[in-house]
Amino acid sequence: MIGDLWYKNAIIYSVDVETFMDGNGDGIGDFRGLRSRLEYLASLGITCLWLLPFYPTPNRDNGYDISDFYGVDPRLGDLGDFVAFSREAKMHGLRIIVDLVVNHTSDRHPWFQQARSDPRSPYRDYYVWSEEKPDDADEGMVFPGVQKSTWTYDESAGLYYFHRFHDFQPDLNVHNPAVREQILKVMGFWLELGVSGFRVDAVPFLIERQGKSKGKSKEKAAPEAAHDLLTEMRDFASWRRGDAVLLAEANVTMEELGDYIAGGRRMQLAFNFIANQALFLSLARGDARALHRALEQTLHLDAQAQWGNFLRNHDELDLARLSDEERKFVFSRFGPDPDMQLYGRGLRRRLASMLDGDAKRLALAYSLLVGLPGAPVFWYGEEISMGELLSVDGRESVRTPMQWSNGPSGGFSSGSKLVRPIVEEGRYGYREVNVEAQRHVPHSLLNTIAHLIRARRESPEIGWGSWELLPLHRPEVLALRYTWRGRVLIVLHNFSAEPCDVRCECAGATPQSWADALTGARHTSMQGSLSIQLGPYGFSWLRASGAECLHLQEARPELEPS
Ligand code: BGC
Ligand code: CA
Repeated sequence: MIGDLWYKNAIIYSVDVETFMDGNGDGIGDFRGLRSRLEYLASLGITCLWLLPFYPTPNRDNGYDISDFYGVDPRLGDLGDFVAFSREAKMHGLRIIVDLVVNHTSDRHPWFQQARSDPRSPYRDYYVWSEEKPDDADEGMVFPGVQKSTWTYDESAGLYYFHRFHDFQPDLNVHNPAVREQILKVMGFWLELGVSGFRVDAVPFLIERQGKSKGKSKEKAAPEAAHDLLTEMRDFASWRRGDAVLLAEANVTMEELGDYIAGGRRMQLAFNFIANQALFLSLARGDARALHRALEQTLHLDAQAQWGNFLRNHDELDLARLSDEERKFVFSRFGPDPDMQLYGRGLRRRLASMLDGDAKRLALAYSLLVGLPGAPVFWYGEEISMGELLSVDGRESVRTPMQWSNGPSGGFSSGSKLVRPIVEEGRYGYREVNVEAQRHVPHSLLNTIAHLIRARRESPEIGWGSWELLPLHRPEVLALRYTWRGRVLIVLHNFSAEPCDVRCECAGATPQSWADALTGARHTSMQGSLSIQLGPYGFSWLRASGAECLHLQEARPELEPS
């Protein structure tokens, strides 16, 4: 039944509790504050919140360094606050998924503390050790320039330990059955507290096998064995709670993603990092072909599975999958200043500032976000066009406090010393960009996005239907057709600053009526053809009543994606 696979049509919104809303005036966002903003989120049309890590943490990697999987960081509240929040979210029709970060722990986690200090401790084998520094210790770092190695010597153990990420994030040895049992236990705990699933952090690293043999850190696990853990996690989640999902964070090839998803039998959802990077290239070039190609590669998933689409998230905009030349081009358009770039592969900026606050391009981008095959995932503050703060370090630039009003501290907190500086200056400062300022303005980005979300929720063709790319006759237009239970929806996006005419060739000579799902405008196709005008960065979602639309035609010769 449609309602069962809730994630097929979900509108996901990711929140960092510590920067969303402060409920007790200490300058740090918390569960009480988040709870007070549930009406806002529900009325925006969000159906699912993804909470970034909120667990006890030394907080050296924005909470992705967890020292206790079973709690709430005291700065953000306690378990009681979490339950009060999750209960109320449910009343508002909002589901919650939480970050599951089990590739590693913090080095402050009691497991690691015991593992390093006592060779006989059962926790020793929870981590990955080596007597000698493996030859490839200087390879495969996730944070080049910041991270020095993937193996670090621990004085108290007298051994090297493996860490894919920072040295304060030792990798768990997931090939130890006791560790796997712990992972399931953690999942079981949060499922019992009402969550609908997990955003599974760093999946490729979670399942990779790290060996202990001298001088050799990697042993290739048989692919099936590598995926066993995902199957186990999926089975367990489904036994505990039938509608629980796993959302994979994995910036890997389509083939690998296909293995993680396995027809929805392993992970129901995965972020489409490939489409994300191509989308930015297309936006930068004003040319739809890069995205068209990425969608050609994108797997058509089984009914049980779904893509997670996103524009920006809490990390840098990672463009590592583009060619050097393509990435340079995107950098030149969206982040020319070296200070905007990070790790040689990404941009530490938010979308609104990359698009220079251009309302038309922002609307195009968000129409794409909700109109591409999959479920859209927003990053808090996107709906009001928040910008970044480059004066804070690294990825923190896009994690500044939510801007609620033009009052003190942007309405985020009644305190004055904030967990992270809020954007004050310039056109993205909180006095200019905030929820209150946009709430009553009909064409504000906030209302545009609410409008797009409503249209998306009323378009089950996108979440449920089969999709195909219509032949590309103009390089600047992306055309997708969704078909579901006799309904046809054609979604057109013009990436260029020039208006253009698109002609839709339709079957049958009898006049056929079409309605734009976003504007309500009516169109009639005559003699089997429908002409649509798209404005600069214009878009249109056309729903046909009846006859099938075959393909788009334009006066110009056909262009192959190149
Ligand atoms: C998260 C990052 C984090 C890393 C290590 C990533 O996938 O998105 O923010 O630094 O995992 O946990
Ligand atoms: Ca607080």
